[in-house]
Formats: sequence, structure tokens, C-alpha cells
Amino acid sequence: MAGICPICGEKVGGFTGKAEPFQRLLDEGQALGVYKYGICLDCLKSIVEKTRQGHPEKSIITQEASPISSATEKMFSSPSPVPAAEEDRGLVTGYCILGTGPLTSLFSAVTDTFGMKSNAYLEKARAAEKEALSMMKLEALKLGADAVYCVRINLTEATSGNGMLMVSASGAAVKTTAQAPEIVKAIEILDGSK
Ligand SMILES: [Zn+2]
Repeated sequence: MAGICPICGEKVGGFTGKAEPFQRLLDEGQALGVYKYGICLDCLKSIVEKTRQGHPEKSIITQEASPISSATEKMFSSPSPVPAAEEDRGLVTGYCILGTGPLTSLFSAVTDTFGMKSNAYLEKARAAEKEALSMMKLEALKLGADAVYCVRINLTEATSGNGMLMVSASGAAVKTTAQAPEIVKAIEILDGSK
């Protein structure tokens, strides 16, 4: 799967791109909670090493990122219009590009041959959708909002014929009158890092 590394922004995979992480490193990155979809070998290796050595970056990941990610999990998002009583903080978006990749395609082809409905694409699309929604909610948090209304999710082909899909989410960031304490805390952390 060719893609763009979310850390260094360079192309990953293919003949010209940076190397993709190998399975063991990928597993370790996931176990440490530092794995990002589409990350290149070099970036994941350096993050995993720093995290392992108890580098200051680890405290950023565990102490700062976790209340923020748990706050985004708690945030309410809905396709319904913004309630009149709440404060609209503006448009927020999030997206995630996923490569369906040759392995997945092969797997789908094989399972389709045997008459089994393959869920590989669906599972990937589901994970990408979650990622896009989390990114959208993070943008909302940065605006001091604790909910997102008018949410729309789109799945589009990012590059024609290369098996790259883009999931995008958009909505209206809304500051409700009753913000949960976890969300208030996450907003404070984000404000402090500006
Ligand atoms: Zn990278």
C-alpha cells in the first residue's frame, strides 16, 4: 500500500517511497499506542525506540494524548442540526486516507472465489471512519467545543485506480451548556499547547 507518512509527510511504499514498517515493529508500535496508520518504517522505529527508552516524548504521548483521546471518545457527534440553545463554533473536518493494498485485494479475490463475503475492506473502511471522526472531534476540541452536529461522512476514491480511499468527516463544532469534566480538561491541555 502506498501512502503518505503522517509524521514526516513523505511517500511510503512502492518503488520510490520510504519503507513500510515490518510486522514485529508494527505490533510493538500498536502495543505502545504510538502506531499511526500509514507511518513509515523510520518514523515508527524512532518513536518506538524513544518510547521504549522512556524519552520525554513518552510522557507527551501518555500524559497529554490520552486525556485528549479519551475526551474525543466521549464527545457527542450527531447528524442532526445544531440545537438552537447551543453555541456554534464553526466547521470542523477530519479525514483518513487508506490503502486497500494488494494483500487485501488478493484476500478479497480469494474469499470471493470461495463464495465468502470478504469483510477486509469493510473493516478497514470502518477503522478509517473512526480515525476521520477522531480527527474531526480533535479539531472541535481545539475550538473549545464538546460536541459536533450536522456530521457527514464521505468515502471517496483518493487516486483513480490505485486502491486508495479517503474517508472524510465534517460537521459543526458546538459548545454545549454542560461540558463534561474530561472534555473541559482536554480543552485546557490543548489551549496550553498553543
Ligand atoms: Zn515518516
